[in-house]
Amino acid sequence: SSPATDPNAEPEKIVILGSGWAALSALRKCAAPNKSIVVVSPRPHFLYTPLLASSSVGTITLRSACEPLRALVESAASKATSATFVRADAREVDVKGKKVLATTDSDGMALELSYDKLVIAVGAQPNTFGIPGVQEHALFLKEAEDSAKLHAKLLCNLEKAAALNIRVAEIDRLLKVVVCGGGPTGVELAAELADFAHNDVARRYGTDISERIQIILVEAMPRILAPFDEKLANVAKEHLVSKGVDVRTGTAVTYVESNDVTLAPSCPRNATKEQREAAAAAAKTEETGALVWAAGIGARPLVKKLANSLGQTDMRGLQVDETLKVKGTDSVYAIGDAALSGYAPTAQVASQQGKHIGRAIRDGIDSKFEYIHAGSLCCLGSDNGIAQLLAPKGSNSFNVWDALGAEQVGKDGDERAVTGKPAFVMWRSLYWTKLLSTSSRLSLGGDWIKAQLHGRDVVEPV
Ligand code: FAD
Ligand code: NAD
Repeated sequence: SSPATDPNAEPEKIVILGSGWAALSALRKCAAPNKSIVVVSPRPHFLYTPLLASSSVGTITLRSACEPLRALVESAASKATSATFVRADAREVDVKGKKVLATTDSDGMALELSYDKLVIAVGAQPNTFGIPGVQEHALFLKEAEDSAKLHAKLLCNLEKAAALNIRVAEIDRLLKVVVCGGGPTGVELAAELADFAHNDVARRYGTDISERIQIILVEAMPRILAPFDEKLANVAKEHLVSKGVDVRTGTAVTYVESNDVTLAPSCPRNATKEQREAAAAAAKTEETGALVWAAGIGARPLVKKLANSLGQTDMRGLQVDETLKVKGTDSVYAIGDAALSGYAPTAQVASQQGKHIGRAIRDGIDSKFEYIHAGSLCCLGSDNGIAQLLAPKGSNSFNVWDALGAEQVGKDGDERAVTGKPAFVMWRSLYWTKLLSTSSRLSLGGDWIKAQLHGRDVVEPV
């Protein structure tokens, strides 16, 4: 008899690796009688990634973006036979023996966890593409610690620049921030940085400093914001330029040192030797106070190791079938950024996949995953944004959009574009309501009001 259907059977052992969007949605749905659930992650909190860009410049506090995991696991435990959290790094999956080998975060102790069903939701990590110097010298924007580190670096550079006031070249270096990657992460960060410079740095350090801040957004492709319609990407670019951001498309970061980055015209993958030599000859080095690496993501070591052991050849993630089961296994699922499921690596996809797998485990029935895309939103700092949303079909369905001045976009013209303040309000309303707890909603609401009334934080949190 199966534990999913027989209440007297031994509880089914479910191991979930990760504590992000995919893992949490799976946990919430699979919590049911006769399930014994273990969540394994080195991170004792759920991180609300859409808030990372604004926490890096002190618009909000990290408390609003981090949800303590134990509270979420406790709530799942009330519906299941048991649910526990183990703070550890999963290192290896033994598919035949149905075991996960992990190492505890605190003292590196080895653990072995057996499972009946395993959910791999370990996400991804920043991709450096092997570019020299990135790993050692760049800042990232992936985890809460990255955001705190970036905030501290910006404030430290401002203090140094304010103290120097004579050595002009050094001030300009300290106040130059290069953001590599014109995807949604890089664009949202560049917009927040520009607001921070114009409003808060000007107010606290004076315009002598704020006007010398330079923000360079570097994108290798001919345009920024690939997931958005070109018209919307252009609106975003114009907005950034109007805020003084130097947007350099068709330009790639090719080399990084502690205080400078080398930028060169991008080369196509199949570039000839001559084209590569010409690009290298046109390369220029920019001295910089901070380089933020927002150039995309790649698979984690655990994922690569498992994909390799299963004979999978694409190392960008775990290949799954239409039910999200890892190909070559009978009880391992991969969801979110860790999976190669044919969908974009977004929180929207990760949480829908988590819910799907949670239900499948709860009911003991695998079924085809179908993604429902609600649209894409990108925040462009204070009072600005872009949104590309699916317009429901129907004779009167476009009226609201017309009222918002929403243009038709998308391949089939079935999406609507909203820009400016309405898009900003949509972004804030959506992300505020989607927070996981009332406590985080109160905290975030408070942060936004405080930033509006008193400006952003310009001191490092103690
Ligand atoms: P994650 O959320 O990254 O979670 C992975 C979890 O696995 C983490 O808890 C991690 O600690 C844990 N883990 C890592 N290694 C191991 C291991 N070895 N063993 C056990 N656990 C491990 N998407 C949107 O749809 N909208 C947005 O507005 C948006 N904004 C974003 C802003 C930023 C700055 C970033 C970086 C991303 C943003 N995304 C957004 C993308 C979105 O955050 C990701 O697609 C999403 O986090 C993927 O969810 P996940 O659960 O697969 O991975
Ligand atoms: P991305 O992969 O979407 O963008 C990275 C960009 O960096 C690409 O445009 C790439 O061409 C560029 N790049 C790579 N190497 C480069 C180099 N050496 N020099 C210059 N440019 C280089 O990564 P992301 O922006 O971090 O987004 C990751 C995922 O998270 C995406 O799926 C995205 O949609 C999602 N996300 C969504 C939102 C949102 O919905 N508001 C916000 C952030 C992230």
